[in-house]
Amino acid sequence: MSYDYRILIDGKLTKPVNGETMEVINPADNTVAAVVPKCSVADVELAVQAANRAREGWRATYIGDRSDLLLKLAAIIREHQEELAPIETMQYGGPISKTSRFDIPFAPAELEFMAGLGRSLTGLTISADPNARVMTFREPVGVVGLITPWNFPLVTAVSKLAPALITGNTVVLKPPSCAPLTVLRLGEYVVQAGFPPGVVNIITGPGDTVGEAIVNHPGVDKINFTGDSFVGKRIMRLASERILPVASELGGKNAMIVLDDANLEAAVEGAVYSAFFNSGQNCGSPSRFYVQEGIYDAFVEKFVEAAGKITVGDPMNPDTMMGPLAYNACRDNAERYIQQAKKDGAKLLLGGERPNTPETRNGAFVIPTVFEVYDNRMELMQEEIFAPVVGIMRVKDGQEAAELTNDSRYGLCASVWTMDYRKGILLTEQLNVGTAWLNQHLAIVSETPWGGRKESGWTKENSILVLDEYTYHKHVWINMAETPNTFWADRIK
Ligand code: NDP
Repeated sequence: MSYDYRILIDGKLTKPVNGETMEVINPADNTVAAVVPKCSVADVELAVQAANRAREGWRATYIGDRSDLLLKLAAIIREHQEELAPIETMQYGGPISKTSRFDIPFAPAELEFMAGLGRSLTGLTISADPNARVMTFREPVGVVGLITPWNFPLVTAVSKLAPALITGNTVVLKPPSCAPLTVLRLGEYVVQAGFPPGVVNIITGPGDTVGEAIVNHPGVDKINFTGDSFVGKRIMRLASERILPVASELGGKNAMIVLDDANLEAAVEGAVYSAFFNSGQNCGSPSRFYVQEGIYDAFVEKFVEAAGKITVGDPMNPDTMMGPLAYNACRDNAERYIQQAKKDGAKLLLGGERPNTPETRNGAFVIPTVFEVYDNRMELMQEEIFAPVVGIMRVKDGQEAAELTNDSRYGLCASVWTMDYRKGILLTEQLNVGTAWLNQHLAIVSETPWGGRKESGWTKENSILVLDEYTYHKHVWINMAETPNTFWADRIK
């Protein structure tokens, strides 16, 4: 019998009001992986009401006790790691070698990190007036709507859940419709860990109904969204009706700059790993390469050779390096960009097609694809494809590479590869991105802030900075004089 997935509302694992369900498809072979609840606006109403009932109690809970619950939740996830990794693989195609070592362990690690970090949250004391005591207190935002994507479904959800909860917020969490399974399991663990009813509510259903109902609900105080920039804009437009704050981690079109004096082997290894990890379905993957002319031919030759050795196949096989894309439409989208790149005059150096093996015949597969490109304004160099499809362009120097990197509506991340550290540091400073790596790409850990600029969004996940997304500073001014104090009024300096 198939697993009985339930939503979580008010501490109860339950079914949607309308009793509807939807299928989750395994992209490796397009079979039905599971059937899950399909919520409606009525469930959003119940979830938001529950989160509002729980908010004062949770906010008043001693932070050490909140921290203990996060640690319990982390421990339960760790107990179920082996069970969760294949579920993650089955629902979005990340190879088991990756989901078991990266996706799933990253989730409890985030909870453990935030369980400690959140306890060090402080406000400010301000020397504004000798006759007053002026300070800020951190307050939770209230009820936060968390809307999450399908790449790394569990960890992207937990990366929002952990800071939201430790800072005293209650949440309504909506995972992606194509890959909600591990987040629904998380709901079971939330109950087992003993979180008070209503603190965490998890509902599944289409973004354009359930997601928008969360955004539009007056009982929701903030949205924290990760996903496509187009959807992010739609959410921001809806949110603007009531000046609802929206934290957003959106798309990217990330550059890798390789200069003549780079360590060639390291640059190629870094390029192959970061461009094709998770089939290129990482917000931080590089998909445009600007390579200086002196190293260009050697880099291209080695990069294409190494990318051609990536094993593409059944993601449940521990030897598979690259699985399918998350669903057929992602593959079709990638193939459309491949055709367009050819029409635009890009030269295909590798791939451009589906793998030709029996095990991949029915799945959403695309093999690593590399184009040589002459024009930075081509779609291939401007649009987020979110697939193992990259363009490489020859540049005369770092300055040109920086200008091309910044010639984008996105600003998530970029990397520079050179053994001249002074030059590299100065170049990273020119890049209009949220993260700039030097001789590294795709290093993302709990301790480091993550977030973009421009149409990649502007808020932060991870690190101590994420706590600002889930708290307000309340300014408190205490007049110590016996009469109303105007000391500062004629002393503005
Ligand atoms: P989507 O934007 O399609 O979906 C993300 C979430 O938003 C899903 O839960 C989706 O629900 C929901 N949603 C869709 N439409 C609406 C709407 N109108 N109102 C409210 N919610 C809605 O993104 P993907 O899941 O396809 O994820 C890939 C994207 O995420 C890429 O662009 C990638 O760059 C970005 N991303 C960015 C990261 C970053 O840190 N900057 C990290 C990871 C991913 P449903 O599934 O039901 O449609």
